[in-house]
Amino acid sequence: MSASNASTALQKPPPISERGKSTLREICPICHDRARVRSSTMVTPTVRDLHIQCMNVDCGATWKSQMQVVYLLSPSAIENPDIDIPMAPAGVPRKTYLPPGEEAPDPRQIPMFET
Ligand SMILES: [Zn+2]
Repeated sequence: MSASNASTALQKPPPISERGKSTLREICPICHDRARVRSSTMVTPTVRDLHIQCMNVDCGATWKSQMQVVYLLSPSAIENPDIDIPMAPAGVPRKTYLPPGEEAPDPRQIPMFET
C-alpha cells in the first residue's frame, strides 16, 4: 500500500491563494443541497452564529446555525486566562501523521507481538 492511499498520509497544504477562505461545507437540512455561510457573528469567544443560505434556487431556505468550540485536541501555546476550553476526553480518536518518506504499515500484516 502506498502512503498516498493511507488515511494517515501527510496532507498537502492548500495553495496560498485559498488560505483564509472558509472550507466549511454546509448542507441544507431540507433539500440536502449545498449551502453557504453568508455571514457570521461572534456570540462568545467560543460560539459563533452563522447565517446560512441554501444554494438550490428551487429551495431558497435560509437559516441560522451555531458553531461552538467543544474541546481542544491540543493545547494552545498562548495563555489566555479569560478562556477556559476543556481538553478532549481520553480516547478521542486523533489523526496521526507519518514522518516524510515513511509508509503506513500494511494492515494485512499479522502482528507478531500482542499488546
Ligand atoms: Zn435547500
